[in-house]
Amino acid sequence: MERAHLPAVREAKRNNMTFLKTEMALMYDAVHLFAKALGDLDRSRPIEVARLDCEGDETWIYGNSLVNYMKWVQVRGLTGLIKFDAKGFRRDVTLDIVELTKTGLVKVGRWSRTSGANYTKSYREVEQGIVEDLRRKNLVISSVLEPPYVMLPETPDGEKGSQRLEGFCIDLIREISQILVFNYTVELADDGTYGRFDADSGRWNGMIGELLEQKADLAIGDLTITNERKQVVDFTVPWMNLGVSILYRKSSKKTSVFYRFLSPISADVWLSVASAYLVVSVMLFTIARFSPYEWTDTHQCDTSEGRINEFSLLGSFWFCFGSLVQQGGNALPRAISTRIIAGVWWFFTLIMISSYTANLTAFLMAERLETLVESVDDLAKSQIQYGTLNGGSTWNFFRTSKLAIYQKMFNFMESQTPTVYSTSNEEGVSKVLKGDGKYAYIMESPSIEYVTERHCDLIQVGGLLNSRSYSIALPPGSPYRTLINSALLKLQETGKLRDLKHKWWKVERGGGACQSSGDSGAASRAKELGLNSVGGVFVVLLAGMGLASITAVCEFAWKARRLSSSAKERDSRWNDVSKDLGLTLSCTSSTTTDGKVSAEGRKVSALTKTTYGSTYTTTCSFRQKELLS
Ligand code: ASP
Repeated sequence: MERAHLPAVREAKRNNMTFLKTEMALMYDAVHLFAKALGDLDRSRPIEVARLDCEGDETWIYGNSLVNYMKWVQVRGLTGLIKFDAKGFRRDVTLDIVELTKTGLVKVGRWSRTSGANYTKSYREVEQGIVEDLRRKNLVISSVLEPPYVMLPETPDGEKGSQRLEGFCIDLIREISQILVFNYTVELADDGTYGRFDADSGRWNGMIGELLEQKADLAIGDLTITNERKQVVDFTVPWMNLGVSILYRKSSKKTSVFYRFLSPISADVWLSVASAYLVVSVMLFTIARFSPYEWTDTHQCDTSEGRINEFSLLGSFWFCFGSLVQQGGNALPRAISTRIIAGVWWFFTLIMISSYTANLTAFLMAERLETLVESVDDLAKSQIQYGTLNGGSTWNFFRTSKLAIYQKMFNFMESQTPTVYSTSNEEGVSKVLKGDGKYAYIMESPSIEYVTERHCDLIQVGGLLNSRSYSIALPPGSPYRTLINSALLKLQETGKLRDLKHKWWKVERGGGACQSSGDSGAASRAKELGLNSVGGVFVVLLAGMGLASITAVCEFAWKARRLSSSAKERDSRWNDVSKDLGLTLSCTSSTTTDGKVSAEGRKVSALTKTTYGSTYTTTCSFRQKELLS
């Protein structure tokens, strides 16, 4: 302020005025400018002041010159530099931006038409100013009752009191207030709603309405950020991410307890195991017949030329069954090929039995509960009624969705009488409980999680239909948003938000009830083993069968080669081998029912020094000595 104007300021102070009003300063400047222009005009030429009648047509002859002088001169007045353009409008006006502090008004920047607002205060200083301002405030916070975000406290005898509120959001705002140091009062929104725009009245209701009507400084609760709300209020960074899903009742349709032992494994796996058992038993029998190393002497003291093979058809089936039920059989394979078969079969049974046992445990622990709907598509197609919270963001999601299925669902909900909507989530949950499978409630996933932690017969059906977030809402342009954002990020980074979630979802007010009763969790989610889970072990089994077959052929060839000593024999070796192979596979049919061998059997026994050594019995357990005697 210029020295020349100090008398005016002193005058203002003398009159106990702490600051000059704009009108007064402008008036002062106007008079000052007029005096300067008149003085300059007088100096340029002698002027006379004539008496004039305001009503008459006569004008002062120096009037135009004086106006031109006033447009031309420049003076620095109380309101800054006074300059005019050709039309007589003031130009190059600059305004000081001031801020009210504890010590009075402090200049924090300048504004001019050409360069706009220019703050001379640093960002840090501005923020510090807001922090101090916040400390002096008692913020009014609007909220709605919704477990576990904001709840009336339960007094020790179970009665509900109304003195103090509690819940996740109450703890959250307490944590924020401790970081930023401010006082606050939480007040429930008059209509108990979140905020919906009413096109008829052109007004917002609920928490959003309270912010816009300046009844509240903040709105906290399970308040979803939506595009519509974001147009009228400011939101902080999200403190929880979520989506919309379906809450439904588990139906008590159970699989027959009598045949529960069949449940852990799906029908196709049972069939595949049975087929594998048949194939492996037959393979074992065939390869044991074929492999010369599977034939042994009847007894070490027995001097007869009889040889036996323990893997008859029945013996092979018995061996495989014994392994399958983890009991083993009395026969043990000797040849490499049969050992390979036995090895892979044991491996197969080990995996199958372990998987079966583990899954059976899960099945026995849990009641196998099945639901009629598994997804939103099922729900849309079914006869089941469903609804949302009336006027909330979930309702709005269906109302504004462009997807055909959600539009169909919205039309269905709108057309229902009596209404399928609820005035609170609590009402929606009780409708599901009472509906016994005839009503599903669509609500936000954290609330579903909270409810299913406490009502074990309720479940979330399908995945999330969308993705959204909860945050704190403030009036548009609120200076506190940045501070609350950084407090929220701090709480997120320190894990405080996670701890609060755990406290209010899993611990307080009966949390974890369903986990301890064993109705939820891994047990209730037990699913029968499908072929895709155990398919690999069948592949191993097949590979083992292949390997065993190749080994058996090698064994056969090896033995044949060793026994063929003469050139003649070598020539006829392959003839013998092919005969032996044919007879081996047909040997069981060569015995008669009374234990005597048939003509064919005798023919076989007559062969000497063939691949299998000396003569051999035609069935695995019949000794040749006895048969031919
Ligand atoms: N949280 C929601 C809201 O802000 C309520 C709901 O629709 O589930 O409107």
